[in-house]
Amino acid sequence: MSYKHQYTDGTPIHFPLGKVVCVGRNYAEHAKELNNPVPTEPLLFIKPGSCTVALEADGFAIPQDRGEVHYEAEIAVLIGKPLSRNPSVEEVRDAISGFAPALDLTLRDVQARLKEKGLPWELSKAFDGAYVLAPFVPGDSYSDLTDIGIRLSLDGEVRQDGNSRDMLNPIIPLIQHISAHFSLQSGDVISTGTPVGVGPLHSGQQVEISLAGQASFSSRVL
Ligand code: ZN
Repeated sequence: MSYKHQYTDGTPIHFPLGKVVCVGRNYAEHAKELNNPVPTEPLLFIKPGSCTVALEADGFAIPQDRGEVHYEAEIAVLIGKPLSRNPSVEEVRDAISGFAPALDLTLRDVQARLKEKGLPWELSKAFDGAYVLAPFVPGDSYSDLTDIGIRLSLDGEVRQDGNSRDMLNPIIPLIQHISAHFSLQSGDVISTGTPVGVGPLHSGQQVEISLAGQASFSSRVL
């Protein structure tokens, strides 16, 4: 595994990647587009660090033989300090070391089969290369965490254009909730869910993901 955390200016971040704690259906409009009920508490799942690759200009690979691979653009939050089981708002804010756009790649056909049978989602969410993570902007880049824009374009056409203000579980309460269930360590990442507009990726497409006004990255589907 060659992935290493870094900031957008190339500065390395010295704690290793731990786990990626993800939240499903954190935007109501996205839950509806997949005909899922809007959950009453956060729907959490974990991607192992091993499935993470750096978003680089020369491209990223997707599985070719397991049905549709969907993009899900998400705001990734880097945890830079261990959190207690019951952290205060200030402790959570202080533990955030960065923000980045990320792709939570999902084998949608495989996931549909697993969901139908009530089985765990790992085969659709935790395969090698399933989390494509861009470099981080510093944790103090935003004064208001309920106003972070996340956007994805495919071949120049905007497909997802979300904002953290539309999250059912905003970033700070989400991290407080997660902390009660999973201990968060330096190097862990929270993937905060995807806005409406998901769809399949195809080899050869050009993908651009950005945190509005902060950082934009372009890559290609191999
Ligand atoms: Zn997701």
